[in-house]
Amino acid sequence: MSIELIPAVDLASYTTLGVGGKADYFVRIERVKEVPWLCEKIISMSCPLTILGGGSNVLVSDSGVRGVVALMAIVGIDTKEEGDDVLVRVGAGVVFDDLVEYCARQGWWGLENLSHIPGTVGATPIQNVGAYGVEVSEVIDTVQVFDRQKERFIDMLASDCGFQYRDSLFKSAKGRFIVVSVTFRLSKKPMPKLHYADLNQYFISKKNIDVCDVRKAVVEIRSNKFPKWQDGLVGTAGSFFKNPIVDETTLARLKAKCPDLPVYEVGNGKVKLSLGWILDKLLNRKGYKKGAVGHYEKQALVLVVDHKKSSAEEIDLFAKEVEDLVNSELGIKIEREVTMVGV
Ligand SMILES: Cc1cc2nc3c(=O)[nH]c(=O)nc-3n(C[C@H](O)[C@H](O)[C@H](O)COP(=O)(O)OP(=O)(O)OC[C@H]3O[C@@H](n4cnc5c(N)ncnc54)[C@H](O)[C@@H]3O)c2cc1C
Repeated sequence: MSIELIPAVDLASYTTLGVGGKADYFVRIERVKEVPWLCEKIISMSCPLTILGGGSNVLVSDSGVRGVVALMAIVGIDTKEEGDDVLVRVGAGVVFDDLVEYCARQGWWGLENLSHIPGTVGATPIQNVGAYGVEVSEVIDTVQVFDRQKERFIDMLASDCGFQYRDSLFKSAKGRFIVVSVTFRLSKKPMPKLHYADLNQYFISKKNIDVCDVRKAVVEIRSNKFPKWQDGLVGTAGSFFKNPIVDETTLARLKAKCPDLPVYEVGNGKVKLSLGWILDKLLNRKGYKKGAVGHYEKQALVLVVDHKKSSAEEIDLFAKEVEDLVNSELGIKIEREVTMVGV
């Protein structure tokens, strides 16, 4: 098998932030059987391998990425019915929102709250994408990966994937696993999940809701929360940081300072804080801009950049400023949701 490794490919246009340098080599992976070939090639070249999906959750260094960057472009959808469930096995390179739309049209429940999340299917388990009260791990049945350590394909059950809030085993095992397909367990029986405040409000007086109604609502709500990155004028990776999860002692300290602070129980005596709220209401950062980087005017957790004028370094420095500010004002260390590539 021979697949072309293209030298010196500019990566900025492969990411939604739209900044960053070149990959030493770039390759498009379209078939499952190309994955072991690629891994052998990486061993023979003794160089690093970076996997890229839709580039909507990465910040690529201005000095580029050493070794090979492989764009996952494996497509295909297979379905199998099991009683009221439908098992939908999907290639890692399928655009996730195309899948969500397809499933909603079939009347299959489970993915609709995750409408309009950019990127590919294969990346969804990496950070366990979530939105509007649902995490993708709730509907993942198995993840098929190529294990670079064992040099073979394995089907991992959702319970083996170490899923947590915006985290998984795939993220912590840094590059060991390449996701080639994901199997979702969806339901033909209505299963609306409308507990998230915005959705609850949207459907407050509506009855007989179908899955397409929920998708439509999520798309409408999201259009007011995220910039229009698709037109190429603004760069963004959505929420740049994770919402912090803190223990009771930290919460008590914060509540003494700020009694209105919204909190969400996550179990084990811990609560999740809304970093967007903190940045907006406590630190007055909504819409704040410095150079070509700023907080989105409608949601402070979302960073936006004028990528024609910005750089990865400028975004990184701005993000560090936010991290330092939250730490100095509230004594909380925040984490990035976006993965740094090539740094
Ligand atoms: C406007 C906007 C809104 C967003 N809203 C949300 C949201 O509501 N909820 C949410 O959770 N996220 C959100 N995101 C973040 C992002 O869309 C998701 O994290 C998405 O799953 C990333 O997919 P991707 O294909 O673009 O991955 P990439 O950005 O290409 O990659 C992300 C990481 O996954 C790894 N990776 C990608 N594919 C594979 C694979 N096949 N095998 C192994 N590793 C892989 C990469 O190496 C990288 O570390 C948003 C982003 C934007 C720009």
